[in-house]
Amino acid sequence: MSWCDGLEAICKQSVPLSAHTWYGLGGPARWFVTPRGEEELAEVLRRCTRHELAWRVLGHGANLLVRDAGFDGVVIHLAGHEWESVCLDGPLVTAGAGADFPKLVKRTVEAGLGGLENLAGIPGSVGGIVRMNAGGKYGSIGTYVQRVRLASPDGRIEERTAERMGFAYRHTDVGRAVVTRVELRLEPGDRDQIMQRFRRIWNEKYASQPTVSARSCGCIFKNPPGHSAGRLIDEQGLKGACVGGAEISPRHANFIVAREGARAQDVLDLIALARDKVRAATGIELELEVEVW
Ligand SMILES: Cc1cc2nc3c(=O)[nH]c(=O)nc-3n(C[C@H](O)[C@H](O)[C@H](O)COP(=O)(O)OP(=O)(O)OC[C@H]3O[C@@H](n4cnc5c(N)ncnc54)[C@H](O)[C@@H]3O)c2cc1C
Repeated sequence: MSWCDGLEAICKQSVPLSAHTWYGLGGPARWFVTPRGEEELAEVLRRCTRHELAWRVLGHGANLLVRDAGFDGVVIHLAGHEWESVCLDGPLVTAGAGADFPKLVKRTVEAGLGGLENLAGIPGSVGGIVRMNAGGKYGSIGTYVQRVRLASPDGRIEERTAERMGFAYRHTDVGRAVVTRVELRLEPGDRDQIMQRFRRIWNEKYASQPTVSARSCGCIFKNPPGHSAGRLIDEQGLKGACVGGAEISPRHANFIVAREGARAQDVLDLIALARDKVRAATGIELELEVEVW
């Protein structure tokens, strides 16, 4: 008897993860499951736990580097209309974990709701954005979160207020739980002003980093307290350094971009090079922001 008996409609085998990440790199998932709602998700999680299967949840793959060998376990993908609904009710916005975050930002800006324009240009799913507490110099998503709905590895569904989410710099206490839905509170304001601010922040972001069409995962490393990871790497003369098809961006040293023919191992080798050089020169240990599967 297989762990996924009865779940054949939502379970595929040997699915290339390169098609599901911004990097476009990496091997296949042994199993790839797309539950059609919270109940099915809970059942998949219970089975993974019972059968002691390694599992991961995939958002839009904007912060993921999948190894060339792929992932020998179950990848759970929250995609499809069950996960992508968005509801605006005055200043309150409810969004499914699979909703596209940039589209949500655009919709709230157009509705004259302020807040998310501060996160202009950050790709990902709502679930991934909340899990990573994504943000930048104008703020992080945690500031706007009221409540999060989560599925735990034993299949229990719980709701947590923002205070119990442990939002910190690129960190939450989500742990092994899966975000299923998020409630945000935004600030009604002047639509044109919010739109202008959105455009300014978007332009500022992409003037200082690789273009949105470049294959990357955003910043590779977290900024160490009091330092900029990009500056530390730049100071080692590593802008433009290449391994195979991967390159430390000449525009922003905390980005590694994948060019034609790149392998995930090329990116991993550049990560090791940057870490070694920065450690040797400064004693600072760079911590990964990208998730490596
Ligand atoms: C061009 C570019 C620019 C970027 N700029 C920024 C930036 O300015 N600021 C910033 O913070 N990030 C930035 N990033 C990184 C990325 O946008 C964020 O980390 C985002 O949160 C990733 O969301 P995702 O849905 O793609 O998550 P994925 O990459 O799919 O997954 C990332 C992690 O979140 C987990 N996860 C995904 N969905 C869920 C869920 N529903 N429940 C629980 N865990 C989940 C995954 O298991 C994994 O551990 C950038 C990336 C790119 C490619």
